[in-house]
Amino acid sequence: MLIAAARLFDGHGHSIVPNPLIDIADGRIASVTQGNAPPSNSSSTVDLGDVTVMPGLIDIHQHLAFDASDDPVSHLADVDDGTLLLRMRAAALRALAGGITTIRDLGDRNYVSLTLRDWFRSGAEAGPEILAAGPPITTTGGHCWFLGGAADGEDGIREAVQAHASRGVDLIKIMATGGNLTPSLGPHESQYTAAELAAAVRAAHALHLPIAAHAHGGQGIADAMAAGVDSIEHCTFFTADGVDADPAVIAELGRRKAVVSVTAGTIPGGGPIHPAIAKRMAAIVSNHAALHRAGARIACGTDAGVGPGKPHDVLRYAVSNVLPTIGMSNAQALRANTSLAAEICGVGDRKGTIAVGKDADLIAVPGNPLEEITCIQQVLAVFVGGRRVGMGSQ
Ligand SMILES: [Zn+2]
Repeated sequence: MLIAAARLFDGHGHSIVPNPLIDIADGRIASVTQGNAPPSNSSSTVDLGDVTVMPGLIDIHQHLAFDASDDPVSHLADVDDGTLLLRMRAAALRALAGGITTIRDLGDRNYVSLTLRDWFRSGAEAGPEILAAGPPITTTGGHCWFLGGAADGEDGIREAVQAHASRGVDLIKIMATGGNLTPSLGPHESQYTAAELAAAVRAAHALHLPIAAHAHGGQGIADAMAAGVDSIEHCTFFTADGVDADPAVIAELGRRKAVVSVTAGTIPGGGPIHPAIAKRMAAIVSNHAALHRAGARIACGTDAGVGPGKPHDVLRYAVSNVLPTIGMSNAQALRANTSLAAEICGVGDRKGTIAVGKDADLIAVPGNPLEEITCIQQVLAVFVGGRRVGMGSQ
């Protein structure tokens, strides 16, 4: 199949390539050249016309098991795993229609996301690539304990990591601090000691699994960083009543080029953001801007599913509305959730750029997103593994 378009952004560079011709074979990109579309009397040529083709977006933090309602926790408790799987499939397909061709799921129940991952991987249905953590590792009664990943102490954490690995997860998720979904512990409070987090990282890395740490409070962020986690999720520097970031921790995260997953994005008209976040938003944005200037590697993880403003296709709003506010150029913001996110997720060899040999995960958007990044809010076509899906999401 040959895809022709007016413009291409490859997910890696700084500029637009005019008149690309992308040749796709066996689901991968076989060549990228430039020229006019051949006369399309062949069904194997798709001329997308006056659009920009770019890599599919990669959301580095979603929860397919949460339904993006005002009470996702109760709604999850109400359904069995069979119903949950069907709901998660619908959520994943919504994400795909919104231009998200790879989803890193950072917390499910009973490893249902792995079943969905394997269903799409089988090729039986075109779906996004899913990289799944299974139930997040948390303390007994701690943040999101109801997902089933409770583990205490260094031995308990090691056993939990091994149990996750034996189920075939793609990475480990650990809750370093409390969070906003679970009232048992404040987001600013640490759940695990520095030694316990270090044990988790050693156990995960020994099994060649990356590990992502949910961390809101400053101590949890510092401990997760020192432990050597592969990404810090949220990184909001919550205190009991506000936000307070230690400049030395920000500088060190930058020096290490640490991966920071910025929890961003709400859909237009999607309802209010969580009040605890809303009142801290300006300070959080300012700290994320400081992290960006310091050299941290930042991409959006939307936390899709956790609330009514966060359906599973919200990423395009996060990238276009939020990343520029922390000082990213349009090209940096577009690279964040394509090529950089692919590296963060460990799939940089297959995803995130339009280059020979990569999976043909492509989207088409109007206009020129390097000049006007909100162009990506309108997804006109989506291809995953070279298969065109739906008609995109307007
Ligand atoms: Zn989350």
